[in-house]
Amino acid sequence: MKTGDLLIVSCSALKNDAPGEIPALVRYDGPAYRVIRSFLREWSWPSNLRVGVFSAEYGLIGGLAPIPFYERRMTPERARELRQMVVATLKEWSTLCSSLAIVCGKDYLEPLLDGVHGTGFEHVEVAAGPIGKKLQYLSQFLRKRKDKRKRTEPDINYDRLLYFLPDWDDMLDPEYDFDNDTFSQVRRDERREVHVTVLMRPRKVCDGILVSLAQQFKGKGALKGFSRADVRTLAPQPLRARFGLSEDQFLFGDCGAFSYIQEPEPVITVEQAVSLYELHGFDLGASVDHIPAPFFPPEERERRVRLTREKARAFIEAHRRLSCRFVPVGVIQGTTPESYALQLPEYVEMGYRHVGIGGLVFRTDSEIEEIVKGICEVRKKLGKPVWIHLFGIFRPKLQSKFRELGVSSFDSASYFRKAWLRSDQNYLGVDRKWYAAIRVPVSSDPRTRKKLHGSGIPFEEVERLERRALQALHLYGAGKLSLEETLEAVLAYDRLVDRNEKKKKDLAQAYKETLAARPWEKCNCPVCSELGIDVVIFRGSNRNKRRGIHNTMLLFEIVRRGFD
Ligand SMILES: [Zn+2]
Repeated sequence: MKTGDLLIVSCSALKNDAPGEIPALVRYDGPAYRVIRSFLREWSWPSNLRVGVFSAEYGLIGGLAPIPFYERRMTPERARELRQMVVATLKEWSTLCSSLAIVCGKDYLEPLLDGVHGTGFEHVEVAAGPIGKKLQYLSQFLRKRKDKRKRTEPDINYDRLLYFLPDWDDMLDPEYDFDNDTFSQVRRDERREVHVTVLMRPRKVCDGILVSLAQQFKGKGALKGFSRADVRTLAPQPLRARFGLSEDQFLFGDCGAFSYIQEPEPVITVEQAVSLYELHGFDLGASVDHIPAPFFPPEERERRVRLTREKARAFIEAHRRLSCRFVPVGVIQGTTPESYALQLPEYVEMGYRHVGIGGLVFRTDSEIEEIVKGICEVRKKLGKPVWIHLFGIFRPKLQSKFRELGVSSFDSASYFRKAWLRSDQNYLGVDRKWYAAIRVPVSSDPRTRKKLHGSGIPFEEVERLERRALQALHLYGAGKLSLEETLEAVLAYDRLVDRNEKKKKDLAQAYKETLAARPWEKCNCPVCSELGIDVVIFRGSNRNKRRGIHNTMLLFEIVRRGFD
């Protein structure tokens, strides 16, 4: 379906000279780009707006395409050289955009106008006249398209602990058929997959989603990078819609420092991080950091602590220079409790009112407690309200302590992932008791096949027992089979795929408890209501991750009510 209004702007000699690659809309700094950025500071990116750039160096590229600094002017000759590329790209873009507006200098026009012929644009406009006229046109073009809320400071609740769920790109089939164990479409790209948080709507599972900019360099995730002329670089991904966020939930970005921990320097530059947070409409954005993990030599750890602090300074300066709207969060790394605490005044001095504490994942409960205590004491002495986020940790034993000390926020996927990573604590009941999920592995799965290999059991027999186990569980869910018969059917299949006797005995007892308690009947969340007993069956992502999001929803409830 064609929905976009495409705007093409010519590149400008005036550029931001930041190192590395930054989005074209931030790299170019001519008057047209200032008009666009000033509009985007005031309004969220309109849903039908697409922005392309005609660059003397790269030809037609998306406004979000990352580009390095360069110097090259457009000439009639260069425009002719780029003609073929421009024509082909316009043709592709016209399959998604219904209209085209061109705001370019005269040297750029010829290939563009050539390219328009034979494309599917229903409406084409070329801004004419001197530069002032063109800018006026641009400004009106943008204002006519604003369809979203004005950008405002996020309305953060400072009175209670906030919980963020890190995004692991968990996309599921909303129409998965649990009775017949089939996807809505055989091919994954034909399914209408949604993020697991959307399946829980209208229930909320968190105060916001933590998205890592490192997705830019990986082949997956909402922020994954595309080639410069790809149609997906014409507008930011609609992240809030992707995660089903409502107005009181936040998009929090960080740099995903774990993904480059082995590199000498962070792979993301400060300007890159700042411009990505801003263009993608993040509410909060963490400064660039580098983890001083305990396995590095002491001098390297100290270097990383300093580097993180220097990056934080450059980050808030770039944030000011570009007049960004997102809330800057200064990441503090440290080696000892003192090293963390002593840096806080400097961050406050830089202008930060929100800080994030990194590198805690490696530490024990008592170390974390010391670090957090130290920082909170310094904050008290400073007498300034500083919002403190703890990155990547959830320690049940410490949560009430954190609250007491005045920690503001944390992120963790541990309840989500427990659904399939733990052997016997997979489903959190509304009674706050953990239950084991009942394993019925997919027999055609290569890992299951490997376990069966050499057992001498015909595969038809394996499949028969697998079907029988699932049927028994569904009948038990419907109240039509006894617990003993159900358990027998489950274990008969289980015996084939796992032969560890001790583990099996423990699991049999754990399964019995799950079945007897029927915890899925006591939860009225959308997932448990739809799945019934399937939510406690340990089998494939569509069940396991739905169970994970149910756990997360309960964790969020506990966070809001307060830990015991
Ligand atoms: Zn539930």
